[in-house]
Amino acid sequence: MSSLEVVVKEIADEMRQRPDRGEVATYIPELARADVKAFGLVVIDADGNVVAGGDSELPFSIQSISKVFTLTLALGKAGDRLWRRVGREPSGSAFNSIVQLEFEKGVPRNPFINAGAIAVTDLILSGHHPREALGEILRFMRFLADDSSITIDEAVAASEQRTGFRNAALANYMKSYGVLENPVDLTLGVYFHQCAIAMSCRQLAMAGRFLAHHGRNPSTGLSVVPPERARRINAVMLTCGHYDGSGEFAYRVGLPGKSGVGGGILAIAPGKASIAVWSPGLDASGNSRLGRIALEALTKWLGWSIFGE
Ligand code: GLN
Repeated sequence: MSSLEVVVKEIADEMRQRPDRGEVATYIPELARADVKAFGLVVIDADGNVVAGGDSELPFSIQSISKVFTLTLALGKAGDRLWRRVGREPSGSAFNSIVQLEFEKGVPRNPFINAGAIAVTDLILSGHHPREALGEILRFMRFLADDSSITIDEAVAASEQRTGFRNAALANYMKSYGVLENPVDLTLGVYFHQCAIAMSCRQLAMAGRFLAHHGRNPSTGLSVVPPERARRINAVMLTCGHYDGSGEFAYRVGLPGKSGVGGGILAIAPGKASIAVWSPGLDASGNSRLGRIALEALTKWLGWSIFGE
């Protein structure tokens, strides 16, 4: 066994047994069905070695992790013009908070809080039918993960569509300031479906590889984005990827990361690895509790924090 295999196995074994697992999200009723005992971890290193522990093959709802990929697509479409519609400063507030939007005239703080992600999705939707926009997002995920079996969990999407009143409030508020171009219900429909994409840790770690390797898939050599863009997406992940828990994540883990309320986290060790972890129990900021603890142990063990050992 390589040292990486030993570390991943040790962490997965320890996490399986921990009693303090956080709370599964219930505000999207379908997510409440997740098994709080699940835990998966996959690390894919620069040579393409896949090191997996726990429930690494079980698909889960990627939720806000999808925002990394829609940001990538939207930057491809609009380039730096995107930053006129959404900022790139940490918000210090909850992922679904509305308070800042009023002060900042409907322009969301960053692309990873819900308001910002809805604005990004609206940009992808412009000029397309919702079905096409969603198809583009799903195709991108399948291409990055090199896996055509990735699908959308329609039950999760429908569940959020029925109960996503706060997101509807955020979207309507932005619409009133002209920040959204498309009808609110269409933009939200795409947003709820992108959040409902189901992926395993293995698929997610595959999809994140370009961010760890200067915008390229190191196995195929194919360029996804220019190196400068990969670097900047990582910067936004580090500062904004965990909402009001972003400072704590940087302090403890020290990697760019993006969480979702399905309990997944995608973390990037630049030049070294793409890492996906999943445990559905969340902390008070809506980030996976054991996911963060596992990543903290991993980076400490391997000396992978971008801030040094
Ligand atoms: N779909 C979820 C929502 O909009 C995503 C939130 C999250 O993963 N933090 O509330």
